[in-house]
Amino acid sequence: MKYRAFTLSNFRQIPQIEKLSEDQKFVIEVVGTVLPFKVSSYIVDELIDWNNFEKDPFYILNFPQKGMLSEEHYNIVAKLLKDGTDKATLKKAVDNIRLQLNPNPAGQESNVPSLDGERLNGIQHKYRETMLFFPSQGQTCHAYCTFCFRWPQFAMNSFKFAMKEADLMIKYLKKHPEVTDVLFTGGDPAVMPTKYFEYYFNAILDAGLDHVQTIRIGTKALSYWPYRFTTDDDAEDLLKLFKKVVDKGIDLSIMAHFNHYKAMETDAVKEAVDNLLSIGVKIRSQSPLLKNINDDHEIWSTMWRKQVNMGIIPYYMFIARNTGAQDYFAVTLEEAWRTYQKAIQKVSGVCRTVRGPSMSCVPGKVQVLGMQKIHGEKVFVLNFLQGRNPDWVGRPFFARYNPKAIWLDDLEPAFGEEEFFFENCNLKLHIV
Ligand SMILES: *Cc1c(COP(=O)(O)O)cnc(C)c1O
Ligand code: SF4
Repeated sequence: MKYRAFTLSNFRQIPQIEKLSEDQKFVIEVVGTVLPFKVSSYIVDELIDWNNFEKDPFYILNFPQKGMLSEEHYNIVAKLLKDGTDKATLKKAVDNIRLQLNPNPAGQESNVPSLDGERLNGIQHKYRETMLFFPSQGQTCHAYCTFCFRWPQFAMNSFKFAMKEADLMIKYLKKHPEVTDVLFTGGDPAVMPTKYFEYYFNAILDAGLDHVQTIRIGTKALSYWPYRFTTDDDAEDLLKLFKKVVDKGIDLSIMAHFNHYKAMETDAVKEAVDNLLSIGVKIRSQSPLLKNINDDHEIWSTMWRKQVNMGIIPYYMFIARNTGAQDYFAVTLEEAWRTYQKAIQKVSGVCRTVRGPSMSCVPGKVQVLGMQKIHGEKVFVLNFLQGRNPDWVGRPFFARYNPKAIWLDDLEPAFGEEEFFFENCNLKLHIV
């Protein structure tokens, strides 16, 4: 299968697009001018049910929808496009809107470490054991999620994390024996031709870094382009390389993103999963809980069961991040927890490896454990799954019940406390 993608400039060539009215196509143009838009032919042909596209989870997941911009922002861009405004004016207006969409959630710049006084812009090291690496060649995706929290990687150069020097990564790892996991992320590293994977992985293998025990690849390829592990020209070489890593005793894990169980039902994805598992690669799956896409406990329980049946480990349920089109997808923390609680009780223990619902925010990954009434006060019980300070992990804390809260920022400490125990923390890396 030859990779083909459609973007703002050629989406009218998608044969099925004739099902849309001119107004619907214009919506794509307006919203797609602000938020990055790209869809693969696999999603168009294999995942979307075009007979019911307006409600289809994969259509909403990849095609810009009107409610993804505020009315005010939508009207500004719609008018400029209708007036045929010049490119420079349009760009200025669009940049201005993007800056209002919280392009850099969770203060990621404070996760970027330095080495000998030089900032390593393609590394984030927030949690002691795990270093994120953003290879330059992997900073795009086979298709873009409309919920993307890394959209500025594609749309705003000044917010882009990336680097291409394996030697700097190795030097950093040598100085940081506490790092057990290297997580390749993006964008989507699986868009890289195999030769770049060889370059980075061989650098790690050749350096003899005994402390690096797990290599993870955060990729949506299984959902958006499973041919990356089956029929792509260099798929076989990629699998060979993965096997070499596994045979060296390294735990190689694909961190897959399945947002809906229907993304796990095509022949292509089944073959890709089998190819990976058969050489000893592990696959874990994570997804945010998204209104209009998967805000239904049956979808989650079905998805987790199906994952276990296919040999995939359910890993994280996230809460949609506070960036981009968050309002379109947001469910309240209460709804998120209720959905999780209904879903998890329906599956047996083997599916309960999933953690969440959790928010990746400035202090760490915070799980909503549930709601409880304590001495007459209704509270959220929360817990750190990861912490900027490692000693916060596993420490439950309490917030006043707020039925409208969609993010940690909306919460206040319970029981009349002035602040949460982790507040006013030093945002600098704890890692030195
Ligand atoms: C989620 C995340 C990780 C990985 O955390 P695990 O719980 O080990 O999967 C690492 N770094 C950052 C910045 C993260 O957000
Ligand atoms: S796969 Fe990840 S980085 Fe790529 S568009 Fe989706 S959310 Fe964004």
